[in-house]
Amino acid sequence: MLNLKDPAKRAEWVYGQPMAPCPKCGSYNMKPQIPIAMETTGDETAPQLVGKWARATKAGHTPLQGPAYYACWDCFHKGPAVDCTGRTSEDCRADRALNAEMKRLWNAQTPNSDCTAPRHLSSGKA
Ligand SMILES: [Zn+2]
Repeated sequence: MLNLKDPAKRAEWVYGQPMAPCPKCGSYNMKPQIPIAMETTGDETAPQLVGKWARATKAGHTPLQGPAYYACWDCFHKGPAVDCTGRTSEDCRADRALNAEMKRLWNAQTPNSDCTAPRHLSSGKA
């Protein structure tokens, strides 16, 4: 029986392959992000956003904003993105190769690669 309390094992089960933890916070709570192109002002309420999203996706050929990537749900670290400009949301979601590439890029991240100087070195106390 699978031990789903082990985050690494659980991630392997969820994503169908071993996954690297978030390079920033170590979380395995990453989710694929395929942002769709949507005209938003940033001032919408949640129901208004849902309404806009529903209208944007209704036609079934939803244009994408461009990049697709895995993002950490705990610290909002974004993994390396695959440029999907010109494709549709439906197309990308059905694309197993794209999803595999997003996972490969996430797993290829160097730990702390996008962090600035480590805190213990920049604290000023030598
Ligand atoms: Zn994280």
